[in-house]
Amino acid sequence: MMQRIIFLTLIIGWISFGCESSKKSVDHAGSRNSKKAITVPSFNSDSAYHFIQEQVDFGPRVPNTYSHKNCGEYLVDKLKSYGAEVTEQNFSEQAYNGTVLHLKNIIATYNPNARKRILLAAHWDTRPFADKDFKGRYEPIDGANDGGSGVGVLLEVARMLDKSEKPNTGIDIIFFDGEDYGEHEDVVNTPLKNGLVQIWWCLGSQYWADHPHKPKYSAYYGILLDMVGGTNARFYKEGGSMQFAPKVVRKIWNTARSLGYSNYFVNTNSSGIMDDHIFVNRDAKIPMVDIVEHDPESASYYFGDYHHTQKDNMSIIDKQTLQAVGETVLYTIYNE
Ligand SMILES: [Zn+2]
Repeated sequence: MMQRIIFLTLIIGWISFGCESSKKSVDHAGSRNSKKAITVPSFNSDSAYHFIQEQVDFGPRVPNTYSHKNCGEYLVDKLKSYGAEVTEQNFSEQAYNGTVLHLKNIIATYNPNARKRILLAAHWDTRPFADKDFKGRYEPIDGANDGGSGVGVLLEVARMLDKSEKPNTGIDIIFFDGEDYGEHEDVVNTPLKNGLVQIWWCLGSQYWADHPHKPKYSAYYGILLDMVGGTNARFYKEGGSMQFAPKVVRKIWNTARSLGYSNYFVNTNSSGIMDDHIFVNRDAKIPMVDIVEHDPESASYYFGDYHHTQKDNMSIIDKQTLQAVGETVLYTIYNE
C-alpha cells in the first residue's frame, strides 16, 4: 500500500489513521461554574522573540551536545522562575543511526490540582543537519523557527501565567526532546519485519505517551506549536488534528478569526503531518491540535524554504506571527 510521504519539521510522514496588546475581558457569566470575568493577559511578542534568541545563542540544540544540555538547564530554570512545578524526564533512545541519544522532556505544571487541564507543547531540540540545503548540508542548524519558536511562545505564556490572573483550567507545558533527529534525507528507511516503519522522529513525545509524567495523566485537549514564528506563516487545518480533534481545531481557528488573525489561520484543510501531536493523540489518547506552518498549495515547498536548511535562523522570525499565535493560544485557554 502506498502511503503519502509528507515533509514536516521532519519527513517520512505516515499517518496510518490516515498587535494588539490591550487587555480584554472574557465573560464567563454564561458558565455555571465560574461567574468571574477573567482578564486575558497581553501576549508580548518582543518577549517571545527574546526567548527564541536566547535558545539560538546556546548554539544548535542537538542531543548529546553541550549546547543542548545547557539550553535544557536554561529552560528548566526559566519555567521554575515563572512559578511552575517542573518535572525533568530524562531518558535514552537509540537513533536511526545507532547513536544512543540522552534526552530530556521538560514538563511545567500550573494549578496542579485542577481536574480540567490543557496541554501545550513544542519541541526544544533542533535538527542535527541541514539535509535540505546544498550548503552546510552536514552541519547543524540554528532552528530558530523549527524548535525555537514554539518554545519561545510557550515561555511567554508561562511568564503570563505567573504574573497575571490564572485561567480556570490547569495548564501543563511540555517541551519534547528528540523530535527532529529523524534519518537524513539520504537514508532509505527499511520497513520492519512486521511491515511497519520505525518512526525515528518525535522520540520525546513517543516516550512521554508511553511514560506520562504523572500516573493516569490526561488532559481535556492539547495544542502543539511547531514553526510558529516565520514571516507570513500560514497555518492550515492539518489532517491529523482534524481527524483526532476537529472541535478543538474549530475552536482555535474561530478564536484566531475573532482576533483578526484569519490571514495566518487559514480556514482550509490540509493533509496529515507527522509531528509530536500524532503520538499524543494515538497513544496518550489526548485530542491534540498541531499549529504548524505549511503550505499545501505551494508547488515547491510544503514547508517553508528555510525548512531543514541553514536559513532557519533569527532572520526569518517575525514578531507579528508570534503575536498572532501567542494571542490566539492565550485567548483559547483563558476561555475554558
Ligand atoms: Zn524539523
